[in-house]
Amino acid sequence: MARPISAPRGTRDLLPEDSAAWNRAEAIARDLSHGYAFDRIETPLFERVELFHRGLGEASDAVEKEMFRVGGATGSDEEKAEWALRPEPTAGIIRAFVEHGMHVRPGPLRLWMLGPMFRYDRPQAGRYRQFTQWDVEVVGDAGPMVDAEVIELGHRYFAELGLTDVVAYLNSIGDAVCRPGYRAVLVEYLAAREDRLTDDSRRRLRTNPLRVLDDKDLDPEVAAAAPRSVDHLCDACRAHFDAVRGLLDSLGVRYELDHRLVRGLDYYTRTTFEFFVAGRRGQQQALGGGGRYDGLAELLGGRPTPGIGFGIGIDRSVLAAAEQEAPVPEEPPLVAVVSQQPDDLAARLAAATALRAAGLRVRVDGSARKLGRQLESAAKLGARWAVIVGDDAHTVVLRDLAAHEQRELTLSEVAAAIG
Ligand code: AMP
Repeated sequence: MARPISAPRGTRDLLPEDSAAWNRAEAIARDLSHGYAFDRIETPLFERVELFHRGLGEASDAVEKEMFRVGGATGSDEEKAEWALRPEPTAGIIRAFVEHGMHVRPGPLRLWMLGPMFRYDRPQAGRYRQFTQWDVEVVGDAGPMVDAEVIELGHRYFAELGLTDVVAYLNSIGDAVCRPGYRAVLVEYLAAREDRLTDDSRRRLRTNPLRVLDDKDLDPEVAAAAPRSVDHLCDACRAHFDAVRGLLDSLGVRYELDHRLVRGLDYYTRTTFEFFVAGRRGQQQALGGGGRYDGLAELLGGRPTPGIGFGIGIDRSVLAAAEQEAPVPEEPPLVAVVSQQPDDLAARLAAATALRAAGLRVRVDGSARKLGRQLESAAKLGARWAVIVGDDAHTVVLRDLAAHEQRELTLSEVAAAIG
């Protein structure tokens, strides 16, 4: 036998037994996107590396450490250096927004996407090289209401998934007016304590100092006394943040302030947030996160256009729901079409087709096995009902595989009988 080939490290196969939970997690995302009046957008799985360099910032982890580069088999090294699998959705969506001149459309635009993202990171539990995100973006609205609306939507998602205890952690990191001042104060504070920083943080101090705050190994004393961005907001950012908080309070959305929540990417301004199950704030525990990115469209060659959005990790959300034993609603009952006649495949298929047209979930046995064996295997496959096709073209036998009862009726009566 040939040696079996395994899946790449950091990837997972979605097996049939996992599909009910995934279907549900994705269906809730789709339904909420629809209900909150978002329109679907799809962008390519790979983009120019330059898009991520400009959009996410050279010093972000996604660019510096985790870029998943791709190139064709015959491509030159330059070509291969040009492309990367998308590590996150926002840069691609705003690239599309600029490229298609979408700023002239009636706005604000509300866009959603559900699909795989790629980060070439060291795989761990909850951290994969390919994972799925549900993403929403509102482009063209600078006001605080939409921040609260988007955070409430994320919160609602987890509630619908059956997660009881999800908290939105919230911060404001200011904008081009006040962030430089805050950054200077922070750098001064951290530089005076450089000997207590990790190597990573010492490097970040020069490239992306706000990110020192989300170093999980930051000395707790240094972290606790660090200057907080919310104390250095300009009047406009302060008013925006206060309004967002007031609106979240009025909606009853559970949130907590987190002064260290800066998010990893350069494009964020003002509001940043992340969702966690309360009390579970480990590295690989964030269920989703997002923020406002009022400067991104301009960075990508468009007109200045405000935006806000989030990415929710479907993998981790499904895991969290399973851990909390959130109930997965049952699929509609399965019906198996079986028959005593070995050579009546056309009749079996015709019956299955009619039952499917009536809205039932149906599989059909194409074997020449004895009826008893067909019924046994239908039950093993999870069928609740069997429809036994007989000699008479007009009637079938409907068998309740759990109660071991059966009765004769016409095919058109089956759907109603099952209810
Ligand atoms: P981020 O933009 O990194 O905050 O990602 C948003 C969400 O996507 C996170 O809160 C996670 O739920 C999920 N996520 C990010 N990276 C990974 C990964 N490597 N594996 C699985 N899920 C991830």
